[in-house]
Amino acid sequence: MGQRSAIPAVHEVLALLASELDIHGHEMVTGAVRAQLSITRAKNDGANRADTAARIATEVSRDLAEAARPALRRVFNMTGTVLHTNLGRALYAEPAIDAALTAMRYPLALEYDLEEGRRGQRDSAVQQMVSEITGAEDAIVVNNNAAAVLLMLAALAAGKETIVSRGELIEIGGAFRMPDVMESAGTQLREVGTTNRTHLSDYAAAIGPNTGLVMKVHPSNYQVVGFSRSVSCAELAPVARAAGVPLVDDLGSGVLVELARYGLPHERTVQEALAEGVDLVTFSGDKLLGGPQAGIIAGRRDLVQLCARHPLKRALRLDKVRLAALEATLRLYRADHHLVRDMPTIRHLAADPSSLAERGQRILAAVAGLGEKIDADLRLRPTSAQVGSGAMPLDVMPSLALILTPHGGGADTLAARLRRLPIPVIGRIERGQVILDLRCCDDEAVFISNLQSLAG
Ligand SMILES: *Cc1c(COP(=O)(O)O)cnc(C)c1O
Repeated sequence: MGQRSAIPAVHEVLALLASELDIHGHEMVTGAVRAQLSITRAKNDGANRADTAARIATEVSRDLAEAARPALRRVFNMTGTVLHTNLGRALYAEPAIDAALTAMRYPLALEYDLEEGRRGQRDSAVQQMVSEITGAEDAIVVNNNAAAVLLMLAALAAGKETIVSRGELIEIGGAFRMPDVMESAGTQLREVGTTNRTHLSDYAAAIGPNTGLVMKVHPSNYQVVGFSRSVSCAELAPVARAAGVPLVDDLGSGVLVELARYGLPHERTVQEALAEGVDLVTFSGDKLLGGPQAGIIAGRRDLVQLCARHPLKRALRLDKVRLAALEATLRLYRADHHLVRDMPTIRHLAADPSSLAERGQRILAAVAGLGEKIDADLRLRPTSAQVGSGAMPLDVMPSLALILTPHGGGADTLAARLRRLPIPVIGRIERGQVILDLRCCDDEAVFISNLQSLAG
């Protein structure tokens, strides 16, 4: 009994946890106290009752804080992949954040026509912006581009054939494989050409009375190089039109500006695809477009309306928050001379070597003493970054990284410590070094103070 008396009762520890009780509630705090008490009983370190109660209260408070941390936490994306699917792809521009907050906080003219005072169209704001920017007759929005492709195929080609080149039967990742999507949509895949070469005559020979669509697919995450041939939409459009079959193009990334303006390789824009005579295009909201997750179907009005009236549209529709954010994002393209300033995705892609070098020097100077404390060498080194999300898979951008080389080896351990920082830092490991690409590190001051806690 003399030994047991060193263990405080539950209520004695609870008395030390008033603010935890207020935040987490009685049940949760009591559970955490009991868990720590049973650990203490097992250890029996001989401390007196009051000290043990205080120590348990501290540990309970830490356990509760840990359990209360959200799983979807903010991180620093230092991977060198600007649009990282596992880290949430595009960041919203500030006007999109404002629009999203307003949509969350207040009632919204979502499906309401303020001029007429009656029911309106859910997608009309986005439709107007897409039409203005791209020249498309009409447009609708769904949950993501995978949904846009599914809806388009179901609405326009169910029970019929969809003609696709064998070189474009892509798998995007996350089980998005074009042949499977076609099956789900109820359209029969009609493959033409070979893996490396498809000719206009292959398409022409395949078009028949049972053809629902001719489809082009952006190969996104791979490229066929060497002895290869694919047919452009400009070549294909007259053939499809003469046969009375719609030509559709799954563009993947929704590029709305000439990326060469920002020192990037040219990537075919939505406007270009439509000008080549494509009847419908599908593209993502959160890849190169730089907005929220969304999928846009744009082009010929009669075809867009067939998609809009299909029952799947209701199941795949976009929620009000992202709809508002998408409208605000698209508005930025009307004054597109400010895109580098206003759009995080464009800013990160356009970051030039001299501004990265200045950022690197500032960060390195600020963390100068850290290397000694964590027994690692810290220096700057040129690296290469990539766009990500299946956009321009073979193109890399010159970039700059903070390189952490642990003296005793153990890059994995250091990377794990970086992931446990107050704001987890996600880099990559190459040849025993942790590489933190600085391209997307806008928030320098926060990054620096966050990194300093590695020493603590
Ligand atoms: C990324 C991509 C998709 C899927 O788009 P999500 O918006 O991620 O659903 C479909 N097709 C192509 C060609 C893509 O690149």
